[in-house]
Amino acid sequence: MGLTKEQLATLRDKLLQIRQALVNDVDNIQKHSNDEFESEVPDVNDDASRTYSRTVMLSRGEVDRHQLKLIDEALASIERGDYGTCTDCESEIPFPRLLSVPYVERCIDCMTKWEQSQTER
Ligand SMILES: [Zn+2]
Repeated sequence: MGLTKEQLATLRDKLLQIRQALVNDVDNIQKHSNDEFESEVPDVNDDASRTYSRTVMLSRGEVDRHQLKLIDEALASIERGDYGTCTDCESEIPFPRLLSVPYVERCIDCMTKWEQSQTER
């Protein structure tokens, strides 16, 4: 493993910070959607915009939950001691890349290949 203890500690702190912000965000979305939608009197004219904002908030919540999952996996792999390796080729992900996205799963090469395979579908 190519990371020093200090580097790992920095990344772990960053992960925990992002995680906390996400948890707050998910909470806010849930509170907000309860207030806004459950107490609302049905109004046909307003239906389109209401459906739209609900969709936006749901998808934002989904993105947050997906990110949370990645962060939890990254934190678990720090505990296991295999953090910072690419899930596809198992090479070490460089520290600057981890620093900008600490829950990244793949090295740049594999991420590029993966993104191409996603857009080809
Ligand atoms: Zn790789």
